[in-house]
Amino acid sequence: DRVDNPYAGAKVYVNPEWSEKAAAEPGGTKISNQPTGVWLDRIAAINGVNGGMGLRDHLDEALTQKGSGEEVVQLVVYDLPGRDCAALASNGELGPNDIAKYKSDFIDPIAAILGDAKYASLRIVTTIEIDSLPNLVTNVTPRATATPNCDVMKANGNYQKGVGYALDKLGDIDNVYNYIDAGHHGWLGWDDNFGASADMFKTAATSEGATLADVHGFIVNTANYSALKENNFTIDDSVNGVSVRQSKWVDWNRYTDELSYAQAMRTKLVSIGFDQNLGMLIDTSRNGWGGPARPAGPGAKTTVDTYVDGGRYDRRIHLGNWCNQSGAGLGERPQANPAAGIDAYVWMKPPGESDGSSTAIDNDEGKGFDRMCDPTYTGNPRNNNHLSGALPNAPVSGHWFSAQFQELMKNAYPAL
Ligand code: BGC
Repeated sequence: DRVDNPYAGAKVYVNPEWSEKAAAEPGGTKISNQPTGVWLDRIAAINGVNGGMGLRDHLDEALTQKGSGEEVVQLVVYDLPGRDCAALASNGELGPNDIAKYKSDFIDPIAAILGDAKYASLRIVTTIEIDSLPNLVTNVTPRATATPNCDVMKANGNYQKGVGYALDKLGDIDNVYNYIDAGHHGWLGWDDNFGASADMFKTAATSEGATLADVHGFIVNTANYSALKENNFTIDDSVNGVSVRQSKWVDWNRYTDELSYAQAMRTKLVSIGFDQNLGMLIDTSRNGWGGPARPAGPGAKTTVDTYVDGGRYDRRIHLGNWCNQSGAGLGERPQANPAAGIDAYVWMKPPGESDGSSTAIDNDEGKGFDRMCDPTYTGNPRNNNHLSGALPNAPVSGHWFSAQFQELMKNAYPAL
């Protein structure tokens, strides 16, 4: 039987492989005991890549960590056909039409392992297919932000089918808690994206045998950098009669941060039929924005832009920047029940793992080179043609990036 909030009263699994890399960094033992997500990012990850731990190894280790208490294990299910259609850095191994293989070679084996009675005492949190469904809303024709690959995925329906199949199969297992990815405020917080995305989540969650009862909650800000709570301005403020929504940074968005977005998205989802007890997760692994450059108070009320830019914690060049952001820091440490409607703050993206390489690097994972990871790139319509803000010399997505780990530690907020 599922509990309302799997994180309440439970420890959360510390991935020994991540922990070891973190601990090997100068100062890294300050955070190496934190729980992070285990990413099933290719078929081979189920049995373990290059002699590394596979899914059973993680679950066995989780049983050890569990002892006599309750233990949450956080998995990211991430291998859709035509993955990451609006970017290249996390393109995957499956082509746009490989839905049959996704089901038989990826979801079915995962479901078989998670359904093993041996693991019935664990609370298994599965976050489903990061970034996929939002792309079908915002990055398709006729939007200026459309990409050809997202148009293909919208037309063939394989994102919705894959997500629906995963929800259905994993939702059949009593101790699995499915959370769907719901982007972040700097992506879906605009009026033309918000409701349409909620509807898209419902479409997927009622595809391929899935029902809304298979969905325990949603996760926001996964692997992104959007601030948890901007305290120095609110969406209702104005300067000289000009609304904060008209500032260049906010640009008509309805939300200024992840906490307000997550709570509003939750309300919206319940209103269209999702469970009234829906719980939200917020990935706070890299949205701390501390360090010496963190504003101590609100910006000057000269113009709406001086006010917002002077006060905002999120110091990205543009809200649409997503790759290895310079200046970012670790955010709130993982914790249960931090705010109304929020099941937990989590570190789903393991700090120190790259978002993408800053130059093209050969690899056998299907990963491409996305210029949003190149610090010299001047952008595209999805970041309104701004510099990428990425750190230089980054390795392929998912690979260890020591310089970024150090940057995140240095700018942690709360400080370490
Ligand atoms: C990569 C995955 C990796 C994950 C966590 C993603 O960007 O594509 O391969 O497992 O990040 O670091």
